[in-house]
Amino acid sequence: MSDFVLDPVCEMRFPKMYAVAVEEYEGALLYFFTERCRKEFQARPQAYL
Ligand SMILES: [Zn+2]
Repeated sequence: MSDFVLDPVCEMRFPKMYAVAVEEYEGALLYFFTERCRKEFQARPQAYL
């Protein structure tokens, strides 16, 4: 069963099981494909919502 999610930073779709990090932001769960994307999101979350 593949459950796809969207990385908000690089806009890549990938299976949820491959996420390196999950962040909760304002009640929503965000999945990141790379640690770099997560750091980028944490630095400027408003740019990606
Ligand atoms: Zn990404």
